[in-house]
Amino acid sequence: MKRGYLYILLTNKKIIQKPKIIEERQMQKKQIVAVIGGACAGSEVAHQLTQKGIDVVVFEQNSLPYGKIEDGLPRWHGKLQDREIKKIDEKLSHSNVRFVPHCKLGEDVSVQQLLDLKFSAIILANGAWKDRPLRAEGLDKVTDLTFCYQNPFIYWFNHYHEKNYQGETYPVSEGAIVVGGGLASIDVAKVCQLESVKKKLEERGIEVDVIAMEHKGIPKYLANFDIKYEDLNIKPACIYYRRRDIDMPLAEMPKGCTPEKKEKVQNVRVKILANANKKYFFEVRPLHLPKEIHSTDGSVSGITFHKMNYDGEKLEKSGEEVHVETNLVISSIGSIPEPLSEIPMEWETYDISDTVTGAINKYEGVYGVGNAVTGKGNIMVSNRHAKNMGAFVASSLKSEEKENVAKSWEKETQEIADKMQEIYAYLSEKPGLDDEDCTKIADFVGDLNKKVDYDNYNSWKESILSQRN
Ligand SMILES: Cc1cc2nc3c(=O)[nH]c(=O)nc-3n(C[C@H](O)[C@H](O)[C@H](O)COP(=O)(O)OP(=O)(O)OC[C@H]3O[C@@H](n4cnc5c(N)ncnc54)[C@H](O)[C@@H]3O)c2cc1C
Repeated sequence: MKRGYLYILLTNKKIIQKPKIIEERQMQKKQIVAVIGGACAGSEVAHQLTQKGIDVVVFEQNSLPYGKIEDGLPRWHGKLQDREIKKIDEKLSHSNVRFVPHCKLGEDVSVQQLLDLKFSAIILANGAWKDRPLRAEGLDKVTDLTFCYQNPFIYWFNHYHEKNYQGETYPVSEGAIVVGGGLASIDVAKVCQLESVKKKLEERGIEVDVIAMEHKGIPKYLANFDIKYEDLNIKPACIYYRRRDIDMPLAEMPKGCTPEKKEKVQNVRVKILANANKKYFFEVRPLHLPKEIHSTDGSVSGITFHKMNYDGEKLEKSGEEVHVETNLVISSIGSIPEPLSEIPMEWETYDISDTVTGAINKYEGVYGVGNAVTGKGNIMVSNRHAKNMGAFVASSLKSEEKENVAKSWEKETQEIADKMQEIYAYLSEKPGLDDEDCTKIADFVGDLNKKVDYDNYNSWKESILSQRN
């Protein structure tokens, strides 16, 4: 296997006589791409680039690069998580990828620094980690975790059982209220139900496996102990959604679909809810919009909703209000990209040319991929986007024939096709890096790696995992 320039420079900085392989590569154009975030999207972009012999540096804010696979999907998706983690590991342990853990764009490194270092392109694969802020009166008076957002809540659920877990502990209480309506809000309601049942069983001296309970569903799991859910007398968690149940985005509604197709999708949504309810017993109250969170001494004590009217077109307040007592409100109304001081925003998203190229309008050569720009919390969508954009950037940097690269924009709208041709022209004409540029990048990356004692991907991963278990 051919080693990249960066690999050689990093592992053999004091070479006096250049190995043959470097001389060979000096005949070609040298390219090194910076990728921010190493999860599904970041690792897939890295893979596409290394397939074309391009070196990649992956800057990741955490110790491990699994993103929402590890900290978003609840841990009962074990098999899916293992599969995706294996794919990420394979892509990032490639010898032409240099992984830089504990390096957060915006804190430890800046876009300007990466531009000054002359990276051939910068790819933002940093996902959507900011919970969309809930708008409700009284929120500023809550000072503890009895009001919280979905992302840190799921992080807690996924990690609280680990030996060295030192994060927040969320006070899951019966009758928790989940504000939202997507698949993630169902996951949050399920966590609340599983934790409430677990608590009741533990009070009876029963040791509980929450993952087994999720897999079987609560009634079947309880049957192991000859217990009925009703016997536990649990006040169920409840999802409050502003529109109707048939509008909950649990199954995708294709744009411009026929009325028959629309009805089918709506039925699927209702079925998903009914099945989840049968297994986990949480409730759903459609047509409720949060108005005010009530608190006592900084802890949530209740929430008032506006009752809404919605006929499929116009959503409006009915004038009626509903008050519900609860000790926990979890907002699960969506995740948006985290603002970065150097990247301009357009409302809740980065200011990009379009969601196909993810080209950041302020810069040339900076592109977003995956959840950071697609607006869809879905592994397949992130992977596909990263694959397409990664392959396109790689072909452009390699100055491949325009007729071949044109396949990338053939099916796009004229506007996007024009943008892609502009990107192709920019990247394909970009001069390669000279030895001094490569050495500067290698020194920069080497110093960041040294700071955290990083040597290579596999041994780093093993050492982090061994500290957890
Ligand atoms: C509760 C929940 C359930 C879900 N269930 C499913 C499901 O069943 N099926 C499905 O397909 N999808 C599901 N998803 C969505 C799916 O997990 C994500 O859409 C997908 O994993 C996103 O991949 P990504 O690589 O685009 O982003 P991420 O996984 O978010 O990766 C971004 C990476 O960038 C890093 N990063 C962020 N900011 C910086 C920075 N400033 N500097 C350096 N690094 C940074 C992060 O640490 C992370 O590693 C779920 C999501 C949630 C929240």
